[in-house]
Amino acid sequence: MSSDGKKVMDILGKSRALLSGHFLLTSGLHSNRYVQCALVLQYPNYAAFLASEIAKKFGNKKIDAVVSPAIGGIVIGQEVARVLKARSLFAERDEGRLTLRRGFELRNGERVLVVEDVLTTGGSVKEIIKIVRKSGAKLAGVGSIVNRSIKSLNFNAPVHSVVKLKIKTFDSQNCPLCKQGIPVVKPGSRKLK
Ligand code: ZN
Repeated sequence: MSSDGKKVMDILGKSRALLSGHFLLTSGLHSNRYVQCALVLQYPNYAAFLASEIAKKFGNKKIDAVVSPAIGGIVIGQEVARVLKARSLFAERDEGRLTLRRGFELRNGERVLVVEDVLTTGGSVKEIIKIVRKSGAKLAGVGSIVNRSIKSLNFNAPVHSVVKLKIKTFDSQNCPLCKQGIPVVKPGSRKLK
C-alpha cells in the first residue's frame, strides 16, 4: 500500500469510520467490517485530505460541477468541489427518486464529477448520471472515499475511490462469526465502545 493509502486507513481507523469485528447491518446481514464515513468527515482536516485524494485524479478534467447524493455525499462533494474550483450541488430523494431541488441546475455541456462517500452497488450514482445526461451536461467521472462494491462498477466514465475495501457479509443463519460465539454489535449503538 502507498504511504497515502496507509494514511487513509490510519485516519479511517482513528475516527472509527472503519471498524473490524462482528456487525449487524441495517439490512439484517452480519459483516466483519463496518464503514461510516460521517465519522471521518466530522473532522474537516480529514475531509479536506480525502477530497484532495479524489480531486487530484480529476484535476485535468476541467470539472464545472460536482454532484453528490444526499446525505452521505454532501460533505465530501463540497470539499472536492472546493479543490477543483467547481460548483457543488447535491441531489436528494423526492418520492423515492434522486432529484435536483433548491434551484440547483446543470447546464448544457457542463462537465460533471459525481462524488459519493461509499460506493456499494452504485445505484445512487447511476441515478445522478441520468440527471446529468438529461440536462445535457457531460459525465467526466465518479469519485468516492470508499469502494466496497463486490462486482466492478461500470459507469462509462473514469472511477476513482480513495480506498477499496473487501467487506464480507453473511446471513445470520450462516455467519461464521456467530458460530465462533463472537457477540454481534449494531454499529452506532453504545455497545460499540
Ligand atoms: Zn454473525
